[in-house]
Amino acid sequence: MQKILISACLMGENVCFDGKNSKNSSEIIKKWQKDGCLVVFCPEVSGGLPVPRPPAEIQPDEQIITVEGSDVTAAFEQGAEKALGLCREHHIHIAILKEGSPSCGSSLINDGHFSHTKISGQGVTTQLLEANGIFVFSENELDQAEEYLRSTQ
Ligand code: SF4
Repeated sequence: MQKILISACLMGENVCFDGKNSKNSSEIIKKWQKDGCLVVFCPEVSGGLPVPRPPAEIQPDEQIITVEGSDVTAAFEQGAEKALGLCREHHIHIAILKEGSPSCGSSLINDGHFSHTKISGQGVTTQLLEANGIFVFSENELDQAEEYLRSTQ
């Protein structure tokens, strides 16, 4: 069975900016885990950022800036490159990434003003993976992801 890249926070790892996780307990994820399909990864931590860390948001010019004003674009890009490298190493064609994140979001990101407002957009890792032919689904699209996997077996 083919491997699937998945956001580490969805698997319960405490890698979110606030030191918490976004554990998803769906049966589909449990089944993938049992089958040994999951490659668990956090682009921001792999890009060198600490836990906890200040929240960061993508700006209109594509720079990624923390709430404290630091430019963390390079770390985000490094994490995205590592995600792509992992996908190539494991011949991964599908990823399940946490919606809304500046790295992992697939249809929503924050608006760049730290106002807790979501807008349409993709995180840095999602953008790079999709540009390289990897299908990215959010944790809200697990049925579609499973359907896609079925269609490619
Ligand atoms: Fe989760 Fe992705 Fe944020 Fe890491 S970068 S904490 S995997 S949403």
